[in-house]
Amino acid sequence: MRTPIVAGNWKMNKTVSEAISLAESLKGLLANVKGRTVVVCPPFTALYALGAVIKNTNILLGAQNVFGEERGAWTGEVSPLMLKELGCSYVLIGHSERRKYFGETDEGVNVKMKLSLTHNLKPIVCVGEREDERERGKTIEVVTRQVKAAFEELDSAMIKEVVIAYEPVWAIGTGKNATGEDANSVIGLIRGIIKEKYGQEIGQAIRILYGGSVKPENIEEFMQEEEIDGALVGGESLKAESFARIVKFGME
Ligand code: PEP
Repeated sequence: MRTPIVAGNWKMNKTVSEAISLAESLKGLLANVKGRTVVVCPPFTALYALGAVIKNTNILLGAQNVFGEERGAWTGEVSPLMLKELGCSYVLIGHSERRKYFGETDEGVNVKMKLSLTHNLKPIVCVGEREDERERGKTIEVVTRQVKAAFEELDSAMIKEVVIAYEPVWAIGTGKNATGEDANSVIGLIRGIIKEKYGQEIGQAIRILYGGSVKPENIEEFMQEEEIDGALVGGESLKAESFARIVKFGME
């Protein structure tokens, strides 16, 4: 049985004081939740403060990005060592907004995966096709390429804690979500790639999320699908009530 995981990507939203207040609300709303992994990924600037707010709760801290070097002359970048010290256990890698606006490549994603794992940061690695790729029937090709590149030279001992998020780019922040069935079939394909590379057991154990306009009203549609292990949530993770309802799908 794979433990469901719901991660909130706050993107470039919330000042430190706003982030603290959202986290305080979530702490209350999620206090009794068991058997789910809950992660919040605030902006870098709020990580330190949130580490203290969510200490000893069932909410884990994640970063939205990381650089592929430990230290040095990389102005403006943040290394895995720094994230680890702030109490991060997860890190988003290769989010489509990073690929689109900041030129992140499949190779760069792989470098970040390797370094994060070396420092015990668990990657939530994002893959997904753009709308034009989907229209040209390229979904399988694109997702296969992204997954294979992300896991290049990673051995089976390293990847047990990796989470994959399938996020069709056309569904992010648009209100247009994939159907549960479509998402399930792409996620099944991703699981197949992992099984082929690392064997049945690891492929069966790795958690694969859906992301793209998830809200309280549609979370069940995804979670009833066999291959889908949770959600990466953008917009709706900025509202405590909505995010808590998504985390608690099927519980109330
Ligand atoms: C995301 O940013 O990863 C995301 C899925 O955003 P949204 O839920 O707003 O579509």
